[in-house]
Amino acid sequence: MTRRLFQGVPGVTDTTGQLTTDHCPLPTVTEGDNDTLHEECGVVAIHSHPDAARQAYLGLYALQHRGQESAGIATADGQRLANIKGMGLVSEIFTDDVLQKLPGHMAIGHTRYSTTGDSALLNAQPIRVDSVKGLIAIAHNGNLVNLGNLRSRLERDGAYFQTTSDSEIIVQLIAHSRANSLVDAIAGSLAQVEGAFSIVMMTRDRIFAARDPRGFRPLSIGRIQNPNGPDTIVFASETCAFDLLRAEYLRDVLPGELVMVTEDGITSRQYATGVPQSSCIFEHVYFARPDSRIYGRWVQESRDQMGRQLARESGVPADLVVPVPDSGVTAALGYAEESGIRFRLGLIRNHYVGRTFIEPEQRVRDFGVRLKLNPVRNLLEGKRVILIDDSIIRGTTSRKIVRMVRGAGAKEVHLRISCPPTISPCFYGVDTPSKRDLIAANKSIEEIRRFIEADSLAYLSLEGLLKACDGSEHNGYCTACYTGNYPTQWVDVEDILPATVGF
Ligand code: SF4
Repeated sequence: MTRRLFQGVPGVTDTTGQLTTDHCPLPTVTEGDNDTLHEECGVVAIHSHPDAARQAYLGLYALQHRGQESAGIATADGQRLANIKGMGLVSEIFTDDVLQKLPGHMAIGHTRYSTTGDSALLNAQPIRVDSVKGLIAIAHNGNLVNLGNLRSRLERDGAYFQTTSDSEIIVQLIAHSRANSLVDAIAGSLAQVEGAFSIVMMTRDRIFAARDPRGFRPLSIGRIQNPNGPDTIVFASETCAFDLLRAEYLRDVLPGELVMVTEDGITSRQYATGVPQSSCIFEHVYFARPDSRIYGRWVQESRDQMGRQLARESGVPADLVVPVPDSGVTAALGYAEESGIRFRLGLIRNHYVGRTFIEPEQRVRDFGVRLKLNPVRNLLEGKRVILIDDSIIRGTTSRKIVRMVRGAGAKEVHLRISCPPTISPCFYGVDTPSKRDLIAANKSIEEIRRFIEADSLAYLSLEGLLKACDGSEHNGYCTACYTGNYPTQWVDVEDILPATVGF
């Protein structure tokens, strides 16, 4: 995987390709952001709704946690296809005026945090390609891993790439397919690429949705019943989007399945079979919202079980269980109930900082973490505290949080992590540092404990995590970032080299 650097062009691009600069809130990365994991994308699709753009907007709004760098919506009315995308949050880009420029009864939408391709408007999605098969727009969640010579082969065949994003490979494969029908072209193209993809696609009159054969990323189908017309069919990365749209959950798009929605209804075909499922378990640990159902299982239930299992595996005498908000909250509730130790919100998160904050000089070292989290001194003073978090990546943020809790008067600070140590990078759509920067790949648990200055440190076991997510090592989850066993052949050698010098 090549991580390219790019000087982005701020603004919003519309169907004419013109850039305007009135919607260009570029993110300013605060200190500490490089010590957390980022999801890459969320996708939605709407078929048969008189205001499809607004429905897509609401869906993306519910999926904002999956990517805050850029967002886009493409719509179609049976004749034309419009596409607007921009840098920033969904609500910043899609004002009422902008939504009015997106007519049609069909829409696809995308919200993005990038790792592959440049971090800029150029690679914001949906990506639109005009081909002999007509206009096609695509929105993609995940990462392809066998790009190798596909791109140069397509360029030799006359493909003109508008972006450096791997998502465009899929749509160019479709555009250059020799298959007679569009459905055959899509199925044949998806079968050629390897890696993680949950995609939604739109032509002038059809919506397509597909998941890769291993089902790395989630994608669900929902329906809004319309008493006076055809039902609206909705696709979304997470079911929490259905709640905002008042859509009922029908089912997941299956791994290796291609679903097509037309005026005549829904049809489906299995374009790949016989591949073992390896859905990303980290969706349950961290990325997905607890109010979503992912791979048929409520995330809230998994996290609660992670906390309970963690308490059983690594209990320690203490006065309080305190979550690192927000993602540690559900696991901490489970831990507290299982251990009988009181749960308290001893750290308060400020939800209004992060993206647009102008970072102070580098010498104010802990400023980024202190901006986001603040300890509740009267709860923590003199207490033995169990802190619950969902991961330790480089270790620097964890150390700041441990210091913060101790600085607020805690007598002891015990850190418990609701998943196993992260020892290998992800190549399937999660932005992880390379192995040399992952603290658990280069230090023992006791060395990490000393580094983060905790009184004790324990992680959930792999068996415990699989049990909490109702899986076993062989029935459906990717756990490669905890084991280094990748479900695909492809790995990036540079990224999996451990550190050779002291951390
Ligand atoms: S490597 Fe980890 S983060 Fe990536 S897909 Fe597998 S479980 Fe998810």
